[in-house]
Amino acid sequence: MSQKIIIVSNRLPVTIQQSEDKFNFMPSAGGLATGLGSIYRKGDNLWIGWPGLYDLTESDEQYIGDELKKDYMAPVYLSKQDIQDYYEGFSNRTIWPLFHYFTEYTKYIPELWDAYVRVNQKFCDTILQHASDGDILWIHDYQLLLVPMMLREKLPNATIGFFQHIPFPSYEIFRLLPWREKILEGMLGADLIGFHTYDDMRHFLSSVSRILGHGSTMGQIRLNNRIVGVDSFPMGIDYEKFTKATHSPETIDKLKKYFQILSNQKVVLSIDRLDYTKGIKQRLEAFDMFLEKYPQYLGKVSIILIVVPSRVKVDQYNQLKNEIDTIVGRLNGKYSRMDWNPIHYFYRSFSFHALSALYSSAEVALITPLRDGMNLVCKEYIASKLDKRGVLILSEMAGAAKELSEAILINPNDSDQLVEAMHQALEMPEEEQIARNEEMQNKLKRYNIHRWVEVFMQQLDKVKELQVGLNLKLVTGKTLDKIVKHYSEAESRLILLDYDGTLKPFASNPKAVKPDEELINLLTKLTEDPKNRVVIISGRDKSTLEEWVGHLKIDLIAEHGVWLKKLGAGWSTIELLDQGWKEKIRSILDLYVDRTPGSFIEDKDYSLVWHYRKADTDFGELRARELLSNINYLIANMDLQTMEGNKVIEIKSRAVNKGKAASKWLNEGKYDFVFAIGDDVTDEDTFAAMPDTAYTVKVGLTATVANYNVKSPEEVREVLNTFADTK
Ligand code: UDP
Repeated sequence: MSQKIIIVSNRLPVTIQQSEDKFNFMPSAGGLATGLGSIYRKGDNLWIGWPGLYDLTESDEQYIGDELKKDYMAPVYLSKQDIQDYYEGFSNRTIWPLFHYFTEYTKYIPELWDAYVRVNQKFCDTILQHASDGDILWIHDYQLLLVPMMLREKLPNATIGFFQHIPFPSYEIFRLLPWREKILEGMLGADLIGFHTYDDMRHFLSSVSRILGHGSTMGQIRLNNRIVGVDSFPMGIDYEKFTKATHSPETIDKLKKYFQILSNQKVVLSIDRLDYTKGIKQRLEAFDMFLEKYPQYLGKVSIILIVVPSRVKVDQYNQLKNEIDTIVGRLNGKYSRMDWNPIHYFYRSFSFHALSALYSSAEVALITPLRDGMNLVCKEYIASKLDKRGVLILSEMAGAAKELSEAILINPNDSDQLVEAMHQALEMPEEEQIARNEEMQNKLKRYNIHRWVEVFMQQLDKVKELQVGLNLKLVTGKTLDKIVKHYSEAESRLILLDYDGTLKPFASNPKAVKPDEELINLLTKLTEDPKNRVVIISGRDKSTLEEWVGHLKIDLIAEHGVWLKKLGAGWSTIELLDQGWKEKIRSILDLYVDRTPGSFIEDKDYSLVWHYRKADTDFGELRARELLSNINYLIANMDLQTMEGNKVIEIKSRAVNKGKAASKWLNEGKYDFVFAIGDDVTDEDTFAAMPDTAYTVKVGLTATVANYNVKSPEEVREVLNTFADTK
């Protein structure tokens, strides 16, 4: 079957009205539906989501499903309870307020979380009825944060994109969520995670690093077995639709009517959904202050205040509606004249052409959200200005502010600034208005909704390509067969095994890193084959290695090559090293231990190690950078080197490294099969010292000089077990 593209969002891009036993289907004209229209209405592609009705009879479900299918859609049916607990509940009482920094409105209710998991699973189950492993799935928004991982578990090879349309808050806010790990893990099921702005993206990366401990470079999170891309894609609008609409007969008709009513006034336009994030109250209070401070505008300026009803079943929205009603009543009561009202208030939605007429005629648009993922209204206003006249006042807290830097940008909490911005807007010379709007229009024209979709899809493709490239180097399938064949034909084999992160997963609990029985059995089996020479090559000290595996027929290299032990012989060191440097370096490390809670020093025979795996991840990384630059400067003229490992920095003599030690084994024997495997930077020296014919294998997907990769210590065991079972 060919590859399908499936779009998934909470709501389908359609409104279904039920009158008696008839259903009317009205397609959505929203930006996202338009942008994605070119994708999902093709071949076998489709859009999956909730059709907006609940508790339907089986036959109605059947009928609606059939009708939707004709327009490339498939329904996820939800019950009234689902909507209450998952949509109005966890989505809009927990995630929405928290992600918009309204912590005081955020509810942490386990039952709502359970419903969120349950309904995300419902979405996943419906998707699985339509999707196959090779398909492209694009999941949208905060109602479906768990879906990417749920899908990944069932469709490991699918291409999964996720886009978050609301902000991603800073770590300090996100960490308040009791289900923070699960949410991040859910999102990380995707191959590409998109946000509107760079700030959202970096907040997400910071939470992933601090909460799950996965670092990132250049917007790529390297999980044990997968790369996840994270990037910002500011969503655009259907620019042409808005410019075209301004000279349509319907819009012109509306415009004429508005001019008759508002001819001698300047219009300040305010359009939002009813939402506490939009700053509607603060905007009205500022307008009050403006009229107080600049009374010359009385009778000359009106606000057209459009509030589109939304989420009225959530308490705060209802309360907000009452508060707005009260403020509007108070201000109109305070200032109105027989021939003028300061505020024309509409609590309902407007037709597209009515909006278009308002956008194109309003002298000023006042868009001042306290927090907004993007905000499309401000972009639509600019796109509708055919003569380029008009002034946009825009909150810095809207994602759109990053692109629309020529607007008058304000902090919505600064009422004085808001008052001055209104004054500046009403007084702005026309040439300046035109110059500003031209710049903004050029940006919006170029990066429109179609380009947004195209760029996201391209990036998704790129991440997938990167993963495929890595898969070619993976020791699985045919590659593994080839290596095993070589192994079985060889008469004399050298096998070099790193310990931590290779034979055992990295763990902060010391007990968890001791060799388990299965590992001992595996090593025993490998070492008992007379054709094998097995060397454990580790950064650990010699007594630990001796205690753990000293009883096996195995060679040992300890402390990255300081100590060597060959079968039948005792420990020897390559050279006697000067220890004088240790005191000086230790005093610096002590300082870092004091300043980095959780970090500690390990004193090895010929090196000093600063460990920070128990420290806060980001903070530890920060201190590690600082320590490295500090020490590297200090040791510039000493015969020392610093080495970075997994959450460790080691300082030791330049004369010693794993590669040099490994060479001693290579030089002594004649091997026709050489295999070296390891996970961290110190193993790169081993890889580099190996002959071209050797199999060098890096554990994990990071950059390496090794010629192969495996994903995890579990896979290392699988490969070694295959060797052990091969004669
Ligand atoms: N809108 C509408 N009818 C109205 C008022 C607004 O369809 O009466 C549309 C508007 O054109 C815009 C969208 O609603 O495309 C609002 O999107 P925005 O990103 O500004 O805010 P959101 O509601 O998504 O938070």
